Amino acid sequence: MTGPSRGPALPQERRLVTEIPGPRSRELMARKQAAVAQGVGTVMPVFAARAGGGVLQDVDGNSFIDLGSGIAVTTVGNSAEAVVRRAAAQLERFTHTCAMVTPYEGYVEVCEELARLTPGDHEKRSVLLNSGAEAVENAVKIARVYTGRQAVVVFDHAYHGRTNLTMALTAKNMPYKHGFGPFAPEVHRVPVAYPFRWPTGPDNCAEEAAAQVIDQITKQVGADNVAAIVVEPILGEGGFIEPAKGFLPRVERFARDNGIVLVADEIQSGFCRTGRWFACEDEGVVPDLITTAKGIAGGLPLAAVTGRAEMMDAVHSGGLGGTYGGNPVACAAALGAIETMRELDLNARARRIEEIMKGRLTALQEKFGVIGEVRGRGAMLAVELVRPGTKEPDPESTAAVARHCHRSGVLVLTTGTYGNVVRFLPPLVIGEDLLNEGLDVLAEAFAGLG
Ligand SMILES: *Cc1c(COP(=O)(O)O)cnc(C)c1O
Repeated sequence: MTGPSRGPALPQERRLVTEIPGPRSRELMARKQAAVAQGVGTVMPVFAARAGGGVLQDVDGNSFIDLGSGIAVTTVGNSAEAVVRRAAAQLERFTHTCAMVTPYEGYVEVCEELARLTPGDHEKRSVLLNSGAEAVENAVKIARVYTGRQAVVVFDHAYHGRTNLTMALTAKNMPYKHGFGPFAPEVHRVPVAYPFRWPTGPDNCAEEAAAQVIDQITKQVGADNVAAIVVEPILGEGGFIEPAKGFLPRVERFARDNGIVLVADEIQSGFCRTGRWFACEDEGVVPDLITTAKGIAGGLPLAAVTGRAEMMDAVHSGGLGGTYGGNPVACAAALGAIETMRELDLNARARRIEEIMKGRLTALQEKFGVIGEVRGRGAMLAVELVRPGTKEPDPESTAAVARHCHRSGVLVLTTGTYGNVVRFLPPLVIGEDLLNEGLDVLAEAFAGLG
């Protein structure tokens, strides 16, 4: 299934016609090196020419199976029909007014959708922004004004962005923070319930981790100094860690009992990615504020903070915003993406992808001792690689698996604090044959580890 298509459909196939990278990509890479800052890395050294459905075609005519969605962004597929139709129509009408100067209907409509789709039936408000990091920063601003407190609590393995405050909130030094300090103050890090690596094993992980979180906050920070607890319901860059069941509800209860704003960072896990509109729904968690971006607008830059009206409205007029925040073309694209998610029932598609992939990944785990754990939900899945028989991370095999996939025409991404997780984020409109072919290549990659 590729969804409603536009123009001559991109053939949904894996096809390599040159070595990888091909000559045209190599030529462009030389230009990139001469013109683009080296700090902007490259996962797979081919240049994109077209993309749609479940494939990405490069400038040499090679066609890759896309298991990354541009990091969980093109959930509805690249250049999805409704996204293009609505964004193009908006481009013709006007490209910008600045929502703070003269507002437009698309901005309001996106906020209305966010109020409908996010967890909880309380009254909500939203602010639209350009990037995930900006959304997280704004959530912290709002929580601080609302509570009159300053401290922010974040978790081990967390990732929240690359701006100064969000670097402080992010756990991993290299490459995100190294050399970029000093970082914003009043950020406190606590353990997360990571079942695979919990010292006493997975069974009491939720309880023990929550107890440690509460103990550290009350003893080291003081609960009544804490403005916000910011948590990813499934930790993305940290390695697709699913906190042990029961952990998030305990954190939610503690936040509520202590007047702390609970912020769910659903930038990667939101918008059908995990088979729900938002991952925190799985445990019935209702965050006070929720940050969204990535999958929201089919590839156009848009982000949001959505939350309880009394919290959002605590901020004085003019205190939130930005020149481009909620750009009208990005809003139109978001409405097209949301329309596609509803029409194609992409939550059901994500659950079907989980069914197919979990079965096959689990079979690989039984065969290859290097796979320590298969985890994730919906179409946000991962395998964590270890030295067989141990829990020692194996980043070298992880890189080798990714390299084999890339050279064989399958775009996969790696992640994790220890760089030892292969993650899968296929567009939800990918065809099942293509998905299975991608998994065949993955199996070859593991077989070739030797
Ligand atoms: C990607 C990501 C961000 C940052 O989003 P940008 O748009 O890159 O600024 C923040 N939080 C999570 C969970 C993310 O996955």
